[in-house]
Amino acid sequence: MNAFNKLEFDKKIKKLNQILKNSKNTVFFGGAGVSTESGIPDFRSVDGLYGQKYAYPPETILSGDFFYSQTEEFYRFYRDKMLCLDAKPNKAHEKLAELEEKGKLSAVITQNIDGLHQKAGSKRVYELHGSVLRNYCLKCGKSYTAEYIKDCGGVPRCDCGGLVKPDVVLYSEQLDQKTLNNSINAIVNADTLIIGGTSLVVYPAAGLINYFNGNNLVIVNMSPTSADSQADLLIEGKIGEVFGGLEI
Ligand code: NAD
Repeated sequence: MNAFNKLEFDKKIKKLNQILKNSKNTVFFGGAGVSTESGIPDFRSVDGLYGQKYAYPPETILSGDFFYSQTEEFYRFYRDKMLCLDAKPNKAHEKLAELEEKGKLSAVITQNIDGLHQKAGSKRVYELHGSVLRNYCLKCGKSYTAEYIKDCGGVPRCDCGGLVKPDVVLYSEQLDQKTLNNSINAIVNADTLIIGGTSLVVYPAAGLINYFNGNNLVIVNMSPTSADSQADLLIEGKIGEVFGGLEI
């Protein structure tokens, strides 16, 4: 970053500080870009999963149809790319947890399935696409840990013989209605919405931001999004650096 850009960047962080100070109800809406600085690849960055070569595109492998028809191949990809159990929260996760603790943030709405917001200490987290940390038998409902899924090899089976599935919303599956309602409610009541680390192309999740009717729409993302023109504050940068620079 050159000196001019650094000055502009610092000005924007100051403005975000000010917005957060004055806001009565701030909500964060995020995606895979929130966790790239924790070492978990997103889908659409240059070095994201779409840029790597697999026999099928990630959205095909991570679909309901594929899960049931090619379960072994699904789990091979899933274990390799989606189960990042050693990842640690970065400055963005940590600051969001701190803001909630200080009463400055009312909810995190995430498309991520990695559980890093909770690991950082966030309490009110709406996981639109579920979590790799929860897994259950499709036959008897018994719960299994992510470690079990990682270590069992092949297709994970329950003691009862049933197929074990991650509690993750696969492409073509419906979002959990309660989580959706809670997320909409949080956004409708927010006066500041911070959108971060998401390409805003995965629906219906991305459509939730249209419920926002508050004063400050803030976007923190490394590449342009379809909502940029509506933003009151647009910060093109790494979300960990942006949140790490906040003084509030
Ligand atoms: P995406 O891959 O489509 O887009 C990520 C966006 O984040 C891009 O616009 C990119 O420029 C930006 N970005 C990347 N690193 C960033 C950083 N450090 N700071 C700021 N911006 C950054 O991700 P999406 O919009 O969340 O949609 C992908 C879907 O894939 C989601 O539904 C999600 O469930 C799933 N996914 C989740 C994880 C995870 O749980 N960590 C990882 C990969 C994919």
